[in-house]
Amino acid sequence: MLVPKLPLVELIGGQLTAAIERLGVEVRTGQVVRQISPDRNPVTVTTADGVGHHADHVVVAVPWHAVHDLLPSGAVEKAEFLNNSPASPISGLHLWFDRQITDLPHAVLVGTVAQWVFRQPWEDEQASSGFYYQVVISASQSARCLPRQELIEIVMAELQHAFPRARRAKLVQSKVVTDPKSVFSITPQFEALRPPSRTSFPWLHLAGDWIATGWPATMESAVISGRMAAASLVESEFGGKLEVEAGLARNWLSRQLIKA
Ligand SMILES: Cc1cc2nc3c(=O)[nH]c(=O)nc-3n(C[C@H](O)[C@H](O)[C@H](O)COP(=O)(O)OP(=O)(O)OC[C@H]3O[C@@H](n4cnc5c(N)ncnc54)[C@H](O)[C@@H]3O)c2cc1C
Repeated sequence: MLVPKLPLVELIGGQLTAAIERLGVEVRTGQVVRQISPDRNPVTVTTADGVGHHADHVVVAVPWHAVHDLLPSGAVEKAEFLNNSPASPISGLHLWFDRQITDLPHAVLVGTVAQWVFRQPWEDEQASSGFYYQVVISASQSARCLPRQELIEIVMAELQHAFPRARRAKLVQSKVVTDPKSVFSITPQFEALRPPSRTSFPWLHLAGDWIATGWPATMESAVISGRMAAASLVESEFGGKLEVEAGLARNWLSRQLIKA
């Protein structure tokens, strides 16, 4: 398990983007793609400002629920079902206290509504707004139906039980954020729909944590999907078959859990 030491906006939005640009790649953000034309003379990707961009190959890396509207018809079998596949919400409770409630950078709570607790790991943690912690609740279908104040009170009681210092701490600010379509719900039906990167068009490839990586909705899956898209593109352009590493080998505990 890795916990980033920098905010993702800096790590991915800043440093990773800069590293890619140093390789000679032009990165353009804030461009919504509206259409990908099915003709190859040349392939045209049209953005929301009406501008057409020509390409030899296109990698579509939008989430599973946005892909059907973009793909030319017939590109991916059963793409219309992906669109309606169920999503799973994740809720984040952003909490600022007047003092530290724990020194632990990260904790997992078991049998509680709160699941993951992260302490802000970077230097300016004692900002004027207080000591910041984030509580994350995955698959938060039930939690997100609770009134905001009630959810905060439940989580506060759980934090006070787990971390005695939280009993003396004053909550100075809080924010609850839920994205209802955070991740795909990994049902057997969804698993059966997950496509490879290759599509029926040799110039069109898929990426995204939801393609057939064998992983649930995680950053690992997203990274593997990117490698699958690169392999698909190279195979289509130059022929041959490229192997893509499937990620970490399953350890003893995972094998036992999966068997059970
Ligand atoms: C709250 C939350 C917490 C999470 N926590 C973890 C965690 O702790 N560990 C972990 O491994 N994973 C976690 N995940 C899952 C992880 O974020 C995803 O698995 C990963 O981001 C998927 O990457 P992706 O590139 O496939 O898709 P995304 O990161 O969803 O990227 C898709 C991009 O496509 C863009 N897009 C959509 N439509 C268009 C369009 N028409 N034109 C142009 N762009 C478009 C979107 O704006 C988005 O930027 C979490 C997810 C959420 C929401």
